[in-house]
Amino acid sequence: MTDRRGLLIILSSPSGAGKSTLASRLMAWDPGLKFSVSATTRAPRPGEEHGREYFFLTEDQFKGQVRRGEMLEHAHVFGNFYGSPAGPVRDTIDAGQDVLFDVDWQGEIQIRNSDLGKHALSIFILPPSIKELRRRLESRGQDSAEVISRRMLKSWDEISHWGYYDYVLINDDLDSTEEKLKTIVSAERMRRIQQPALQEHVRKLQAEFEDLS
Ligand code: ADP
Ligand code: 5GP
Repeated sequence: MTDRRGLLIILSSPSGAGKSTLASRLMAWDPGLKFSVSATTRAPRPGEEHGREYFFLTEDQFKGQVRRGEMLEHAHVFGNFYGSPAGPVRDTIDAGQDVLFDVDWQGEIQIRNSDLGKHALSIFILPPSIKELRRRLESRGQDSAEVISRRMLKSWDEISHWGYYDYVLINDDLDSTEEKLKTIVSAERMRRIQQPALQEHVRKLQAEFEDLS
């Protein structure tokens, strides 16, 4: 048995609030963190690679995986299907490493309600203002004006689910949000349920204690 059980760390936000940037910083801080590469039916953006950002699947392939129970969660977002393959998540947390998810609120609820839900830690990232959210989406320069407008329209839907999350951070200053995120993750790793080896330790303490008498 490993000393600790991995966490399922779920990061959600309206598109453009800074979730991917924060996820990259978290992974740079702890290279042992494994990113859950989702499957999607959307087309790759320039620079995206199959197996790195996403597994790019056809709708038939995606639905086959769902049917065979291979997804921990799945959802329809912006007209495309997205889902988190379950196998790698189970292997990683059993090996004592955390898994980082970039999923929407529908994914958060399904992961929380799954058999792995007790190991979930969910964090919602809010933008400081809607004006700044739009500015960030535009400055990223990855999407057309039409896609940006669609994402802005969807952003309230995502924000309105903030109350489902364990922690909510306002991503105003990037460095200070990053520090808060690291503090949360460090503390949550100490949860009793994340430390299966504690039981054995307490048993040893008990044996020592009984030897005293
Ligand atoms: P998301 O993954 O939530 O869609 P990104 O991480 O891609 O968002 O961030 C969108 C844009 O905003 C990027 O250009 C990123 O560099 C920038 N950004 C992220 N966080 C901040 C911040 N705290 N202050 C200013 N710009 C930020
Ligand atoms: P994008 O197309 O910009 O990469 O992602 C669009 C949205 O889909 C984001 O809100 C992202 O969090 C969400 N998403 C990405 N992968 C998954 C997934 O596996 N499951 C769910 N439920 N949402 C996902």
